[in-house]
Amino acid sequence: MELVDSFGRRINYLRLSVTDRCNLRCRYCMPAQGVEKLTHGDILSYEELFRIARAAVAIGVEKIRVTGGEPLVRKGIVPFLARLAALPGLRQLVLTTNGLLLPEMAAELRRAGVQRLNISLDSLKPDTFRAITRTGDVTRVLAGIDAALAAGFPPPKINMVVMRGVNDDEVVEFARLTLEHPYTVRYIEYMPATREENWQRLCIPAGEILDRIAAVYGLEPVEKGTMAGPSRDYRIRGATGTIGVISAVSGHFCSECNRIRITATGMAKSCLFSDEGLDLKPFLGAVDQTPLEDALRRLVGCKPERHGMDAEKAEHKAFSMAKVGG
Ligand code: SAM
Ligand code: SF4
Repeated sequence: MELVDSFGRRINYLRLSVTDRCNLRCRYCMPAQGVEKLTHGDILSYEELFRIARAAVAIGVEKIRVTGGEPLVRKGIVPFLARLAALPGLRQLVLTTNGLLLPEMAAELRRAGVQRLNISLDSLKPDTFRAITRTGDVTRVLAGIDAALAAGFPPPKINMVVMRGVNDDEVVEFARLTLEHPYTVRYIEYMPATREENWQRLCIPAGEILDRIAAVYGLEPVEKGTMAGPSRDYRIRGATGTIGVISAVSGHFCSECNRIRITATGMAKSCLFSDEGLDLKPFLGAVDQTPLEDALRRLVGCKPERHGMDAEKAEHKAFSMAKVGG
């Protein structure tokens, strides 16, 4: 079954946030004091999250990314992932993590059936990494990448949020990682989610990121699969891995959007930047799954053509990416 929105985009990808809590405090994602804690009653139970996932797959979703906050800090995450992995019709189960808990958890995540990991890593320099994450130790993330490979995961996608004057001096160095390692390095344009002061100064358009790499290395485009989403991918000639840019702010993004999102509190969102969502909680009690499926179809039917944000202005309220799942 295919799920298509009113602009002809095929929607086959669900980002499912399982918690808003996190063991880091990245400056672009949440305030230094963290996000206001939700109570247990606000957060969906695993059973409720599973029902949403099952309904989404029944109407055409083929790929689920489990995210957060930091998904690995929620107790019971591994059996939940194993349950998702066994959902008939689901073709890909992937997870986005900051990597801190991978040294302990990579092997059990692999056994649970997670197919691939995206690991966020914004700097290889311990001081810069700590400044961005406010508390983090980069050596833990690097150990997490090694643990993922040792557990048999395919080479991870490494997500780097690029910020002018903060970590942009490492753009070429991250690309260089792909010469010898089969990683996919994904450069993400900084998005003004928390509306930091002078955020416009921090944004570096994807085109500029690519130009900087192309000034040093020859790049060739890489074809992408049907569930790949809005990243534009390239390979440095002769490299083992690939690089990709996600131009969330500067454009080339919305027309290829294939996703919907569910927050940990059960709000369904058809666009990352929309201030409203559809509350799925009223549909979660019934044994019959049809009303939930219909609600998800309505959500897809209302998906806007594009977000109302550009590099000069942000037409949305400030929010924490940890609450929406990135
Ligand atoms: N805690 C996990 C992690 O950091 O990978 C998963 C959740 S995090 C909200 C998901 C992704 O959103 C991360 O790759 C993070 O870098 C990205 N993200 C968060 N805030 C962002 C922002 N303001 N601009 C661009 N990317 C952002
Ligand atoms: Fe936590 Fe991920 Fe947000 Fe960083 S980006 S604060 S790791 S949820």
